[in-house]
Amino acid sequence: MIFEGLSEKLQNALGKLKGKGKLSEKDVNDAMREVKLALLEADVNFKVVKDFISKVKDRCVGQDVMESLTPGQHVIKIVNEELTSLMGTVQSRISFASKPPTIIMLVGLQGAGKTTTGGKLAGYLKKHQSKRPLLVACDIYRPAAIKQLQVVGSKLDIPVFDMGDKQNPVDIAKAGIEHAIKKGNDLVIIDTAGRLHIDEDLMNELKDVKREVKPHEILLVIDAMTGQDAVNVAENFNEALGVDGIILTKLDGDTRGGAALSVRAVTHKPIKFIGMGEKLDDLEPFHPDRMASRILGMGDVLSLIERAQDAIDLKKAKEMEDRIKSQHFTFEDFLDQLEQVKKLGPLNELIGMIPGLGNAKELKDVDFNDKELVKIQAIIQSMTRKERNNPAILNASRKRRIANGSGTKVQDVNRLLKQFEQTKKMMKQFADMEKGMKKGGKLK
Ligand code: GDP
Repeated sequence: MIFEGLSEKLQNALGKLKGKGKLSEKDVNDAMREVKLALLEADVNFKVVKDFISKVKDRCVGQDVMESLTPGQHVIKIVNEELTSLMGTVQSRISFASKPPTIIMLVGLQGAGKTTTGGKLAGYLKKHQSKRPLLVACDIYRPAAIKQLQVVGSKLDIPVFDMGDKQNPVDIAKAGIEHAIKKGNDLVIIDTAGRLHIDEDLMNELKDVKREVKPHEILLVIDAMTGQDAVNVAENFNEALGVDGIILTKLDGDTRGGAALSVRAVTHKPIKFIGMGEKLDDLEPFHPDRMASRILGMGDVLSLIERAQDAIDLKKAKEMEDRIKSQHFTFEDFLDQLEQVKKLGPLNELIGMIPGLGNAKELKDVDFNDKELVKIQAIIQSMTRKERNNPAILNASRKRRIANGSGTKVQDVNRLLKQFEQTKKMMKQFADMEKGMKKGGKLK
Protein backbone atom coordinates (compact mmCIF):
# COMPACT_ATOMS: atom_id res chain seq x y z
CA MET A 1 0.00 0.00 0.00
CA ILE A 2 1.20 3.47 -0.79
CA PHE A 3 3.37 4.94 2.01
CA GLU A 4 2.29 2.13 4.30
CA GLY A 5 4.98 2.50 6.98
CA LEU A 6 4.84 6.28 7.11
CA SER A 7 1.09 6.29 7.10
CA GLU A 8 0.86 3.90 10.01
CA LYS A 9 3.40 5.75 12.14
CA LEU A 10 1.82 9.15 11.54
CA GLN A 11 -1.59 7.83 12.39
CA ASN A 12 -0.28 6.24 15.56
CA ALA A 13 1.40 9.45 16.66
CA LEU A 14 -1.61 11.61 15.94
CA GLY A 15 -4.11 9.03 17.14
CA LYS A 16 -2.84 9.49 20.68
CA LEU A 17 -3.97 13.11 20.61
CA LYS A 18 -7.42 12.36 19.31
CA GLY A 19 -9.09 11.23 22.49
CA LYS A 20 -7.77 14.00 24.71
CA GLY A 21 -10.10 16.74 25.85
CA LYS A 22 -7.22 19.13 26.42
CA LEU A 23 -3.73 19.24 25.01
CA SER A 24 -0.63 20.42 26.81
CA GLU A 25 2.42 21.72 25.03
CA LYS A 26 4.14 18.51 26.08
CA ASP A 27 1.48 16.40 24.34
CA VAL A 28 2.09 18.31 21.13
CA ASN A 29 5.86 18.09 21.49
CA ASP A 30 5.73 14.34 22.11
CA ALA A 31 3.52 13.77 19.10
CA MET A 32 5.70 15.96 16.91
CA ARG A 33 8.80 14.05 17.95
CA GLU A 34 7.14 10.90 16.66
CA VAL A 35 5.99 12.62 13.47
CA LYS A 36 9.53 13.84 12.92
CA LEU A 37 10.98 10.35 13.31
CA ALA A 38 8.36 8.89 11.00
CA LEU A 39 9.20 11.42 8.29
CA LEU A 40 12.94 10.88 8.65
CA GLU A 41 12.49 7.12 8.46
CA ALA A 42 10.44 7.62 5.31
CA ASP A 43 13.57 9.22 3.85
CA VAL A 44 12.23 12.75 3.74
CA ASN A 45 14.97 15.36 3.43
CA PHE A 46 16.23 16.46 6.86
CA LYS A 47 15.80 20.18 6.27
CA VAL A 48 12.32 19.67 4.90
CA VAL A 49 11.37 17.72 8.04
CA LYS A 50 12.77 20.42 10.30
CA ASP A 51 10.83 23.18 8.59
CA PHE A 52 7.70 21.11 8.50
CA ILE A 53 7.76 20.29 12.21
CA SER A 54 8.46 23.86 13.20
CA LYS A 55 5.55 25.16 11.10
CA VAL A 56 3.14 22.58 12.50
CA LYS A 57 4.28 23.24 16.08
CA ASP A 58 3.88 27.00 15.70
CA ARG A 59 0.34 26.57 14.53
CA CYS A 60 -0.51 23.94 17.15
CA VAL A 61 0.42 25.93 20.20
CA GLY A 62 -1.88 28.75 19.14
CA GLN A 63 -4.73 29.48 21.54
CA ASP A 64 -7.54 28.41 19.22
CA VAL A 65 -6.10 24.89 18.97
CA MET A 66 -5.31 24.36 22.62
CA GLU A 67 -8.65 25.64 23.76
CA SER A 68 -10.79 24.03 21.10
CA LEU A 69 -13.18 21.24 22.08
CA THR A 70 -11.40 18.74 19.88
CA PRO A 71 -7.77 19.78 19.96
CA GLY A 72 -6.55 16.44 18.60
CA GLN A 73 -8.65 16.80 15.47
CA HIS A 74 -7.33 20.31 15.11
CA VAL A 75 -3.74 19.10 15.15
CA ILE A 76 -4.51 16.44 12.54
CA LYS A 77 -6.11 19.10 10.37
CA ILE A 78 -2.99 21.24 10.64
CA VAL A 79 -0.71 18.31 9.79
CA ASN A 80 -2.93 17.54 6.81
CA GLU A 81 -2.78 21.14 5.59
CA GLU A 82 0.99 21.37 6.01
CA LEU A 83 1.55 18.02 4.24
CA THR A 84 -0.60 19.28 1.39
CA SER A 85 1.31 22.53 1.19
CA LEU A 86 4.61 20.63 1.28
CA MET A 87 3.57 18.78 -1.84
CA GLY A 88 2.42 21.89 -3.65
CA THR A 89 -1.13 22.67 -2.41
CA VAL A 90 -2.94 22.54 -5.74
CA GLN A 91 -2.77 20.26 -8.73
CA SER A 92 -0.30 21.49 -11.33
CA ARG A 93 -1.36 20.80 -14.90
CA ILE A 94 0.48 20.64 -18.20
CA SER A 95 0.28 23.99 -19.95
CA PHE A 96 -0.43 23.62 -23.62
CA ALA A 97 0.86 25.99 -26.29
CA SER A 98 -1.60 28.50 -27.70
CA LYS A 99 -0.24 27.60 -31.13
CA PRO A 100 0.10 23.81 -31.48
CA PRO A 101 1.98 21.59 -31.40
CA THR A 102 2.81 21.67 -27.71
CA ILE A 103 6.28 20.25 -27.23
CA ILE A 104 7.06 18.28 -24.09
CA MET A 105 10.60 17.11 -23.46
CA LEU A 106 11.05 14.23 -21.04
CA VAL A 107 14.36 14.01 -19.22
CA GLY A 108 15.75 11.82 -16.46
CA LEU A 109 18.25 9.12 -15.59
CA GLN A 110 18.25 5.73 -17.27
CA GLY A 111 15.80 3.36 -15.65
CA ALA A 112 13.69 6.09 -14.05
CA GLY A 113 10.86 5.13 -16.35
CA LYS A 114 11.15 7.83 -19.02
CA THR A 115 10.22 5.78 -22.06
CA THR A 116 7.32 4.04 -20.34
CA THR A 117 6.13 7.35 -18.92
CA GLY A 118 6.32 8.99 -22.35
CA GLY A 119 3.84 6.42 -23.59
CA LYS A 120 1.65 6.69 -20.49
CA LEU A 121 1.54 10.48 -20.74
CA ALA A 122 0.71 10.42 -24.44
CA GLY A 123 -2.04 7.88 -23.74
CA TYR A 124 -3.39 9.92 -20.82
CA LEU A 125 -3.52 13.20 -22.76
CA LYS A 126 -5.08 11.48 -25.76
CA LYS A 127 -7.79 9.91 -23.63
CA HIS A 128 -8.53 12.75 -21.22
CA GLN A 129 -7.72 15.87 -23.22
CA SER A 130 -8.37 14.63 -26.75
CA LYS A 131 -4.82 15.37 -27.85
CA ARG A 132 -3.25 13.83 -30.98
CA PRO A 133 0.24 13.03 -29.71
CA LEU A 134 3.39 12.05 -31.56
CA LEU A 135 6.18 10.31 -29.66
CA VAL A 136 9.70 11.17 -30.80
CA ALA A 137 12.55 8.73 -30.08
CA CYS A 138 15.71 10.69 -29.24
CA ASP A 139 17.33 8.14 -26.93
CA ILE A 140 19.93 6.87 -29.38
CA TYR A 141 22.25 5.34 -26.79
CA ARG A 142 20.29 2.86 -24.71
CA PRO A 143 20.01 -0.34 -26.65
CA ALA A 144 16.41 -1.04 -27.62
CA ALA A 145 15.05 2.31 -26.39
CA ILE A 146 13.68 3.12 -29.84
CA LYS A 147 12.12 -0.31 -30.20
CA GLN A 148 10.62 0.02 -26.72
CA LEU A 149 8.98 3.33 -27.64
CA GLN A 150 7.62 1.80 -30.82
CA VAL A 151 6.09 -1.07 -28.88
CA VAL A 152 4.52 1.33 -26.38
CA GLY A 153 3.21 3.52 -29.22
CA SER A 154 1.65 0.63 -31.06
CA LYS A 155 -0.08 -0.64 -27.91
CA LEU A 156 -1.67 2.79 -27.46
CA ASP A 157 -2.22 3.41 -31.14
CA ILE A 158 -0.02 6.49 -30.98
CA PRO A 159 2.49 7.23 -33.80
CA VAL A 160 6.22 7.15 -33.05
CA PHE A 161 8.82 9.13 -35.01
CA ASP A 162 12.38 7.86 -35.16
CA MET A 163 15.46 8.18 -37.35
CA GLY A 164 17.35 5.19 -36.01
CA ASP A 165 20.37 5.64 -33.74
CA LYS A 166 22.84 7.23 -36.15
CA GLN A 167 21.53 10.81 -36.21
CA ASN A 168 22.03 13.32 -33.45
CA PRO A 169 19.15 13.95 -31.02
CA VAL A 170 18.74 17.63 -31.94
CA ASP A 171 18.15 16.76 -35.61
CA ILE A 172 15.76 13.96 -34.71
CA ALA A 173 13.77 16.23 -32.39
CA LYS A 174 13.51 18.98 -35.02
CA ALA A 175 12.51 16.55 -37.76
CA GLY A 176 9.96 15.02 -35.37
CA ILE A 177 8.33 18.38 -34.80
CA GLU A 178 8.16 19.10 -38.52
CA HIS A 179 6.62 15.69 -39.02
CA ALA A 180 4.01 16.47 -36.35
CA ILE A 181 3.09 19.76 -38.01
CA LYS A 182 2.71 18.02 -41.36
CA LYS A 183 0.58 15.23 -39.90
CA GLY A 184 -1.56 17.44 -37.69
CA ASN A 185 -0.30 16.14 -34.32
CA ASP A 186 -0.95 18.83 -31.72
CA LEU A 187 1.36 17.33 -29.09
CA VAL A 188 4.96 16.17 -29.41
CA ILE A 189 6.54 14.17 -26.60
CA ILE A 190 10.30 13.83 -26.93
CA ASP A 191 11.93 10.86 -25.21
CA THR A 192 15.53 11.88 -24.55
CA ALA A 193 18.53 9.80 -23.51
CA GLY A 194 19.38 9.11 -19.89
CA ARG A 195 22.57 7.94 -18.24
CA LEU A 196 23.13 5.89 -15.14
CA HIS A 197 24.56 9.00 -13.48
CA ILE A 198 24.37 12.66 -14.24
CA ASP A 199 27.31 13.68 -16.45
CA GLU A 200 28.33 16.68 -18.46
CA ASP A 201 27.82 15.05 -21.84
CA LEU A 202 24.24 14.19 -20.99
CA MET A 203 23.46 17.68 -19.74
CA ASN A 204 25.09 19.30 -22.77
CA GLU A 205 23.07 17.16 -25.10
CA LEU A 206 19.84 18.01 -23.29
CA LYS A 207 20.73 21.70 -23.28
CA ASP A 208 21.29 21.53 -27.04
CA VAL A 209 17.89 19.95 -27.58
CA LYS A 210 16.28 22.53 -25.30
CA ARG A 211 17.94 25.45 -27.11
CA GLU A 212 17.05 24.24 -30.59
CA VAL A 213 13.59 22.89 -29.92
CA LYS A 214 12.32 25.35 -27.29
CA PRO A 215 9.97 22.91 -25.55
CA HIS A 216 6.91 24.31 -23.79
CA GLU A 217 7.45 21.95 -20.90
CA ILE A 218 10.48 20.05 -19.69
CA LEU A 219 9.28 17.28 -17.43
CA LEU A 220 11.74 15.40 -15.26
CA VAL A 221 11.03 11.74 -14.63
CA ILE A 222 12.36 10.45 -11.31
CA ASP A 223 12.13 7.10 -9.59
CA ALA A 224 10.37 7.33 -6.20
CA MET A 225 12.01 4.10 -5.03
CA THR A 226 15.38 5.85 -4.91
CA GLY A 227 14.20 8.27 -2.20
CA GLN A 228 16.69 11.03 -1.39
CA ASP A 229 18.76 10.19 -4.46
CA ALA A 230 15.77 11.04 -6.61
CA VAL A 231 15.59 14.43 -4.93
CA ASN A 232 19.31 15.07 -5.53
CA VAL A 233 18.90 14.10 -9.17
CA ALA A 234 15.97 16.49 -9.44
CA GLU A 235 18.00 19.32 -7.95
CA ASN A 236 20.85 18.72 -10.41
CA PHE A 237 18.63 18.50 -13.45
CA ASN A 238 16.73 21.59 -12.42
CA GLU A 239 19.88 23.63 -11.89
CA ALA A 240 21.38 22.61 -15.21
CA LEU A 241 18.30 22.64 -17.37
CA GLY A 242 15.44 24.35 -15.56
CA VAL A 243 12.54 21.91 -15.47
CA ASP A 244 8.84 22.79 -15.40
CA GLY A 245 7.55 19.83 -13.50
CA ILE A 246 8.23 16.38 -12.18
CA ILE A 247 6.77 12.97 -12.86
CA LEU A 248 7.37 10.62 -9.98
CA THR A 249 7.37 6.98 -11.07
CA LYS A 250 7.08 3.67 -9.18
CA LEU A 251 4.98 5.03 -6.34
CA ASP A 252 3.20 1.68 -6.43
CA GLY A 253 6.34 -0.05 -5.26
CA ASP A 254 7.74 -0.41 -1.83
CA THR A 255 8.62 3.25 -1.58
CA ARG A 256 8.96 4.93 1.76
CA GLY A 257 7.57 8.14 0.31
CA GLY A 258 10.48 10.49 0.97
CA ALA A 259 10.81 11.65 -2.63
CA ALA A 260 7.13 12.54 -2.94
CA LEU A 261 7.31 14.59 0.24
CA SER A 262 10.62 16.35 -0.36
CA VAL A 263 11.04 17.00 -4.04
CA ARG A 264 8.71 19.97 -4.29
CA ALA A 265 10.16 21.71 -1.24
CA VAL A 266 13.75 21.18 -2.41
CA THR A 267 13.37 22.08 -6.10
CA HIS A 268 10.29 24.36 -5.93
CA LYS A 269 8.99 22.48 -8.94
CA PRO A 270 5.60 20.77 -8.87
CA ILE A 271 4.95 17.05 -9.20
CA LYS A 272 2.54 16.88 -12.12
CA PHE A 273 1.94 13.14 -12.47
CA ILE A 274 2.66 9.95 -10.59
CA GLY A 275 3.38 6.51 -12.01
CA MET A 276 1.47 3.82 -10.17
CA GLY A 277 2.46 0.64 -12.01
CA GLU A 278 3.97 -0.90 -15.10
CA LYS A 279 0.79 -0.90 -17.16
CA LEU A 280 0.33 1.89 -19.66
CA ASP A 281 -2.71 3.34 -17.94
CA ASP A 282 -1.01 3.45 -14.54
CA LEU A 283 -0.44 7.20 -14.56
CA GLU A 284 -2.40 9.63 -12.40
CA PRO A 285 -2.39 13.40 -12.13
CA PHE A 286 -0.90 14.40 -8.80
CA HIS A 287 -3.19 16.03 -6.25
CA PRO A 288 -1.27 17.17 -3.13
CA ASP A 289 -4.41 17.34 -0.98
CA ARG A 290 -5.57 13.85 -1.91
CA MET A 291 -2.11 12.42 -1.33
CA ALA A 292 -1.93 14.03 2.13
CA SER A 293 -5.31 12.51 2.98
CA ARG A 294 -4.14 9.10 1.81
CA ILE A 295 -1.01 9.34 3.94
CA LEU A 296 -3.05 10.29 7.01
CA GLY A 297 -5.51 7.45 6.44
CA MET A 298 -8.35 9.78 5.60
CA GLY A 299 -8.82 8.04 2.28
CA ASP A 300 -9.01 9.44 -1.18
CA VAL A 301 -12.59 9.06 -2.23
CA LEU A 302 -12.27 11.50 -5.10
CA SER A 303 -9.58 9.47 -6.86
CA LEU A 304 -11.55 6.31 -6.23
CA ILE A 305 -14.65 7.83 -7.83
CA GLU A 306 -12.62 9.01 -10.81
CA ARG A 307 -11.21 5.56 -11.29
CA ALA A 308 -14.65 4.04 -11.04
CA GLN A 309 -15.98 6.48 -13.62
CA ASP A 310 -13.18 5.51 -15.95
CA ALA A 311 -13.41 1.79 -15.41
CA ILE A 312 -17.03 0.98 -14.74
CA ASP A 313 -19.63 0.55 -17.38
CA LEU A 314 -22.53 2.64 -16.05
CA LYS A 315 -25.16 0.88 -18.11
CA LYS A 316 -24.04 -2.46 -16.76
CA ALA A 317 -24.00 -1.09 -13.21
CA LYS A 318 -27.61 0.05 -13.57
CA GLU A 319 -28.70 -3.32 -14.97
CA MET A 320 -26.97 -4.98 -12.05
CA GLU A 321 -28.77 -2.76 -9.58
CA ASP A 322 -32.10 -3.66 -11.14
CA ARG A 323 -31.31 -7.37 -10.98
CA ILE A 324 -30.29 -7.12 -7.35
CA LYS A 325 -33.54 -5.39 -6.51
CA SER A 326 -35.60 -7.94 -8.38
CA GLN A 327 -33.78 -10.82 -6.64
CA HIS A 328 -32.41 -12.23 -9.88
CA PHE A 329 -28.81 -12.03 -8.82
CA THR A 330 -26.89 -15.06 -10.04
CA PHE A 331 -23.32 -16.27 -10.18
CA GLU A 332 -23.16 -14.85 -13.72
CA ASP A 333 -23.80 -11.40 -12.24
CA PHE A 334 -21.33 -12.07 -9.46
CA LEU A 335 -18.65 -12.84 -12.06
CA ASP A 336 -19.50 -9.66 -13.95
CA GLN A 337 -19.17 -7.66 -10.79
CA LEU A 338 -15.78 -9.17 -9.99
CA GLU A 339 -14.55 -8.17 -13.43
CA GLN A 340 -15.61 -4.59 -12.77
CA VAL A 341 -13.93 -4.47 -9.38
CA LYS A 342 -10.72 -5.85 -10.84
CA LYS A 343 -10.64 -3.02 -13.35
CA LEU A 344 -10.36 -0.53 -10.50
CA GLY A 345 -6.91 -1.76 -9.55
CA PRO A 346 -5.28 -4.03 -6.95
CA LEU A 347 -7.50 -4.53 -3.91
CA ASN A 348 -4.97 -3.42 -1.31
CA GLU A 349 -4.56 -0.15 -3.16
CA LEU A 350 -8.32 0.42 -3.21
CA ILE A 351 -8.57 -0.24 0.51
CA GLY A 352 -6.11 2.61 1.12
CA MET A 353 -8.41 4.99 -0.70
CA ILE A 354 -11.38 4.31 1.55
CA PRO A 355 -11.45 6.62 4.59
CA GLY A 356 -10.60 4.82 7.79
CA LEU A 357 -9.83 1.48 6.16
CA GLY A 358 -6.22 2.02 5.15
CA ASN A 359 -4.81 1.13 8.53
CA ALA A 360 -7.89 -0.25 10.27
CA LYS A 361 -6.80 -2.70 12.96
CA GLU A 362 -9.66 -5.09 12.18
CA LEU A 363 -8.28 -5.47 8.68
CA LYS A 364 -4.69 -5.99 9.74
CA ASP A 365 -4.82 -9.75 9.31
CA VAL A 366 -7.05 -9.83 6.28
CA ASP A 367 -5.03 -10.55 3.22
CA PHE A 368 -6.30 -8.31 0.48
CA ASN A 369 -4.49 -10.12 -2.21
CA ASP A 370 -6.03 -10.47 -5.56
CA LYS A 371 -5.40 -14.22 -5.51
CA GLU A 372 -8.64 -14.72 -3.61
CA LEU A 373 -10.52 -12.93 -6.37
CA VAL A 374 -8.82 -15.05 -9.00
CA LYS A 375 -9.81 -18.18 -7.08
CA ILE A 376 -13.44 -17.14 -6.86
CA GLN A 377 -13.42 -16.31 -10.51
CA ALA A 378 -11.95 -19.70 -11.40
CA ILE A 379 -14.62 -21.50 -9.38
CA ILE A 380 -17.47 -19.63 -11.05
CA GLN A 381 -15.91 -20.11 -14.46
CA SER A 382 -15.81 -23.86 -13.86
CA MET A 383 -19.59 -23.93 -13.36
CA THR A 384 -21.92 -24.53 -16.28
CA ARG A 385 -24.28 -21.75 -17.21
CA LYS A 386 -27.14 -23.74 -15.69
CA GLU A 387 -25.28 -24.08 -12.41
CA ARG A 388 -24.42 -20.39 -12.32
CA ASN A 389 -28.05 -19.47 -12.72
CA ASN A 390 -29.33 -22.06 -10.31
CA PRO A 391 -26.74 -23.03 -7.69
CA ALA A 392 -29.32 -25.18 -5.90
CA ILE A 393 -28.54 -28.02 -8.31
CA LEU A 394 -24.96 -28.23 -7.08
CA ASN A 395 -24.74 -31.70 -5.56
CA ALA A 396 -21.59 -33.38 -4.26
CA SER A 397 -20.40 -34.69 -7.61
CA ARG A 398 -20.92 -31.37 -9.36
CA LYS A 399 -18.99 -29.62 -6.61
CA ARG A 400 -16.14 -32.08 -6.99
CA ARG A 401 -16.04 -31.47 -10.71
CA ILE A 402 -15.96 -27.69 -10.17
CA ALA A 403 -13.20 -27.96 -7.57
CA ASN A 404 -11.12 -30.08 -9.95
CA GLY A 405 -11.77 -27.78 -12.85
CA SER A 406 -10.75 -24.67 -10.95
CA GLY A 407 -7.79 -26.15 -9.13
CA THR A 408 -9.45 -25.58 -5.76
CA LYS A 409 -10.96 -27.79 -3.04
CA VAL A 410 -14.59 -28.73 -2.44
CA GLN A 411 -14.39 -26.69 0.78
CA ASP A 412 -13.55 -23.60 -1.30
CA VAL A 413 -16.59 -24.20 -3.48
CA ASN A 414 -18.77 -24.64 -0.40
CA ARG A 415 -17.42 -21.49 1.16
CA LEU A 416 -18.17 -19.50 -1.95
CA LEU A 417 -21.71 -20.89 -2.10
CA LYS A 418 -22.27 -19.89 1.49
CA GLN A 419 -20.88 -16.39 0.92
CA PHE A 420 -23.05 -16.04 -2.14
CA GLU A 421 -26.21 -17.03 -0.22
CA GLN A 422 -25.34 -14.59 2.57
CA THR A 423 -24.75 -11.80 0.09
CA LYS A 424 -28.08 -12.52 -1.57
CA LYS A 425 -29.83 -12.48 1.79
CA MET A 426 -28.22 -9.16 2.66
CA MET A 427 -29.24 -7.73 -0.67
CA LYS A 428 -32.81 -8.84 -0.10
CA GLN A 429 -32.81 -7.10 3.26
CA PHE A 430 -31.54 -3.90 1.71
CA ALA A 431 -34.11 -4.09 -1.06
CA ASP A 432 -36.91 -4.69 1.48
CA MET A 433 -35.67 -1.82 3.60
CA GLU A 434 -35.68 0.49 0.63
CA LYS A 435 -39.19 -0.62 -0.32
CA GLY A 436 -40.35 -0.04 3.25
CA MET A 437 -38.84 3.42 3.31
CA LYS A 438 -40.53 4.35 0.05
CA LYS A 439 -43.86 3.09 1.33
CA GLY A 440 -43.40 5.02 4.55
CA GLY A 441 -42.62 8.13 2.57
CA LYS A 442 -45.85 7.84 0.64
CA LEU A 443 -48.03 7.47 3.72
CA LYS A 444 -46.91 10.78 5.14
P1 GDP B 1 13.98 4.72 -18.97
O1 GDP B 1 15.32 4.10 -19.03
O2 GDP B 1 13.96 5.91 -18.08
O3 GDP B 1 13.37 4.99 -20.30
O4 GDP B 1 13.04 3.66 -18.19
P2 GDP B 1 11.94 2.63 -18.73
O5 GDP B 1 10.78 3.36 -19.27
O6 GDP B 1 12.58 1.62 -19.60
O7 GDP B 1 11.49 1.97 -17.34
C1 GDP B 1 12.35 1.21 -16.53
C2 GDP B 1 11.55 0.17 -15.77
O8 GDP B 1 10.69 0.78 -14.84
C3 GDP B 1 10.64 -0.65 -16.69
O9 GDP B 1 10.70 -2.00 -16.27
C4 GDP B 1 9.25 -0.09 -16.44
O10 GDP B 1 8.23 -1.03 -16.65
C5 GDP B 1 9.37 0.30 -14.99
N1 GDP B 1 8.42 1.37 -14.60
C6 GDP B 1 8.24 2.59 -15.16
N2 GDP B 1 7.30 3.30 -14.50
C7 GDP B 1 6.85 2.51 -13.48
C8 GDP B 1 5.88 2.67 -12.44
O11 GDP B 1 5.21 3.71 -12.26
N3 GDP B 1 5.72 1.61 -11.59
C9 GDP B 1 6.42 0.46 -11.73
N4 GDP B 1 6.19 -0.52 -10.85
N5 GDP B 1 7.34 0.28 -12.68
C10 GDP B 1 7.57 1.28 -13.56
